[in-house]
Amino acid sequence: MNIGGRVGFDRIEDLEKNFRNIDFPIELALPWRYTELWLPMQGCLDRVASYFKKSPIRILSIHATQGNISDDAFLVWGRQTVEFARELGVQDITIHPGNCRSRREASQQQALRNIRRIERETDACGIFSVETFGGKNRVLRPGEIVSCGLPMTLDTAHLHDRNEIKEIVDGYHHNIKTVHLSAVGNGEHHLPVDAFCLSVVDRLRDLNWEGNIILEYLPWFHYRVRTDVRALSDWVERGIPVELIPPDDRYRNDPDRWGYDTV
Ligand SMILES: [Zn+2]
Repeated sequence: MNIGGRVGFDRIEDLEKNFRNIDFPIELALPWRYTELWLPMQGCLDRVASYFKKSPIRILSIHATQGNISDDAFLVWGRQTVEFARELGVQDITIHPGNCRSRREASQQQALRNIRRIERETDACGIFSVETFGGKNRVLRPGEIVSCGLPMTLDTAHLHDRNEIKEIVDGYHHNIKTVHLSAVGNGEHHLPVDAFCLSVVDRLRDLNWEGNIILEYLPWFHYRVRTDVRALSDWVERGIPVELIPPDDRYRNDPDRWGYDTV
């Protein structure tokens, strides 16, 4: 298994600032807001790809923009993301199942058709992993990702029933490509790893799972992603026990300190 952290950018001008000090493997998160951030950047993907081709950063997976996968527009941005991933030699793209309040079944069928069509036409079968979210309105719920046999990005902070997470790991690990690892607590999610997160990694290790573990923390915890990636890697690769450090949100109100630089 590979261990990394989520690092993204919103605008092409941010690339240098966001990535120049990154020295751990990453999930590269592309501009997340579809209309406001992705569309203005869409024409610059070649420049983004050439930035990363010159960079030593190892990209384990890509997080696509958060557009609607049931829309026809997905056929455009989904395909562009596949081509971008291929350019960088990346095999996994995480996509979000959007919320839909009506005609959920029809939207789900459309999403499935779109995924299959892009994968067929780009010859990239299985490249999209659908992320798990709680709530009833998602166009694909976790159980439906499983019953449709789709590759999965399992997010340990989105599902609040720990037994559900354990069952998915045990029953579906063969098709989990990426795990977004973070903890839940105090009414917040995406907190630094806790004992439950370690138990998930431990189980995946027992199962000889070979996917990507991506630490996905709230911005004011980014300062510890690097050390947590190292600690988890040392544990998985060399058996060195992880010392669980309680979350310290001292930078919550200080956005200038939300980077990944060691402090
Ligand atoms: Zn996630």
